[in-house]
Amino acid sequence: MRIILLGPPGSGKGTQAKLLSERLGLLHYATGDILREAIEKDTPEGRRAKPYMAAGQLVPDDIVNDIVSARFRRSDKPTRFVMDGYPRTHAQALSFDAILDEQGLDLSSVIFLDVDDEEIVHRLGGNRWTCPNSTCKAVYHTVVNPPKVPGICDLCHTPLYQREDDKPATIRKRLQIFHESNDELIRHYRDKGLLVEVPGRGDIESIYRAIVKALK
Ligand code: AMP
Repeated sequence: MRIILLGPPGSGKGTQAKLLSERLGLLHYATGDILREAIEKDTPEGRRAKPYMAAGQLVPDDIVNDIVSARFRRSDKPTRFVMDGYPRTHAQALSFDAILDEQGLDLSSVIFLDVDDEEIVHRLGGNRWTCPNSTCKAVYHTVVNPPKVPGICDLCHTPLYQREDDKPATIRKRLQIFHESNDELIRHYRDKGLLVEVPGRGDIESIYRAIVKALK
């Protein structure tokens, strides 16, 4: 199973990718997490990516494409995976197609989690809390899906944090950027016959079931 999850920031890609990964045994490949880790470790890619991420902008295609290509060219390349946050532009989709082709891998499905902008602003506007533990990465919402103890991860008990780019003004910017490249991406995968649209509203388990149904 090789899946790409598309959708606006806050559509639930991360949450659903984590479930798909745990339940179907797929590698959860999240470029946002990889870039945040690179910034934390202060690597050359991290230093280049940092100002774009803090401003809610996309990191230049060449940085992200190089990171992904290098991972898929390793001898322990992922062969069963769910992509979360990559590709995000048409140029990235073309680069990923080329790498998959080179490595003899094809995609099973591309799922578009459809959520409208107002819902996204409501979801992310200061309400999203994330677990920083890299082996956990659980995401909570203070209204819809709160942790049992405020500010603490239910699963690994690490103190939660709010992402810098989840501030309301940055969210609008991220949504605008999302819309600028999303139509082209959707068209790319629709033309390949891989795209399935799944409404991203409702509880986590029912969205998960809709995704799994779409995969079959
Ligand atoms: P995410 O965790 O997927 O919401 O990504 C957080 C931020 O990381 C985005 O707002 C971008 O700045 C950057 N980022 C993650 N993935 C990509 C990508 N595929 N292309 C460009 N920038 C990315």
